[in-house]
Amino acid sequence: MNCPKCGTEGIKVFAETVFNLLKDEEKERFQDGLYFACTNPSCPVAYFGEKTFEVDLIKTTLWYKDEGDDVYLCYCNKVSRGEIKKAFRQVGPDLKAILALTGACGGGKCRTENPLGRCCHSVIEQYVEELKTFS
Ligand SMILES: [Zn+2]
Repeated sequence: MNCPKCGTEGIKVFAETVFNLLKDEEKERFQDGLYFACTNPSCPVAYFGEKTFEVDLIKTTLWYKDEGDDVYLCYCNKVSRGEIKKAFRQVGPDLKAILALTGACGGGKCRTENPLGRCCHSVIEQYVEELKTFS
C-alpha cells in the first residue's frame, strides 16, 4: 500500500505499535486495522492505512523522518544517533562493542516502542556503516 500523500510504498507495521506511539490525546481517534509507515523523510505522514496519522500526532521523533543527533535509534533503551556516534569514536566500528557501551538493542520492547515495531539492530548496523564511510 502506498502513502496517500507522497505515494511512497509503505512498510507494514503492527496496529499495536501505531497505537502505542500516538500522543495520548490522539489515542481515542485510533481504529484497529491495517497500518503502514511512510518512511519518506520529506512526507509529513507517519502512518496510514485504517487512518492517517501525521508526525505531529506521534509522541516520539521517528528516526526515518529526522536525521538529527538527538533522535533515538534504539527506542527501548532510548539511545540516540548522537550516542551511537560518540560510542563509535570511543570504541571504533565494532558493532558489539558499540551496543555494549550504549546499551542499545537490548530492550526487547521493539514491538511497541520502535516506530516500525522491529528490532533496531539493522538500523544501528547501517548507521555504523555510514559512520565508517564518512570517518
Ligand atoms: Zn508519505
